[in-house]
Amino acid sequence: MELEDILRERDFRLTRPRRVVWEVLSESERHLSAAEIAEEVHRRDPGINVSSVYRTLALLAELDLVRESRLTETSTWEPAHADAVIHLVCENCGATRHHDAALVEDLRAEIARTADFAPSVIDVRVSGTCAKCPAPSTPR
Ligand SMILES: [Zn+2]
Ligand SMILES: [Zn+2]
Repeated sequence: MELEDILRERDFRLTRPRRVVWEVLSESERHLSAAEIAEEVHRRDPGINVSSVYRTLALLAELDLVRESRLTETSTWEPAHADAVIHLVCENCGATRHHDAALVEDLRAEIARTADFAPSVIDVRVSGTCAKCPAPSTPR
């Protein structure tokens, strides 16, 4: 379903800031911080101010259309997806890939069963080097 239809279904209009923020998130190969999103949105349309970018992110999060990850000190954003993926993050270029891993759901089941804890969001992140980047030099 298109963003416009999803928004209309919930009585929101597809405003220009909403469209541009969504485009930036959908086209990015990485998770983006709010500041990076604001910068890219501003590059595409200088008429959209930072506060409307932040308001848009909050709205999209409320509608479960984006996923906010707090894997580091700065939270990052991407279009929503299921928990059942592992994030592979390149330490060199920042590219973020999704890796489907059944073990994420195994982990959820295991925690629920053994830890007396009901998991909601599971974020698994693996740092390393992507195929496009030179392999890290081996220490001498
Ligand atoms: Zn993700
Ligand atoms: Zn890379």
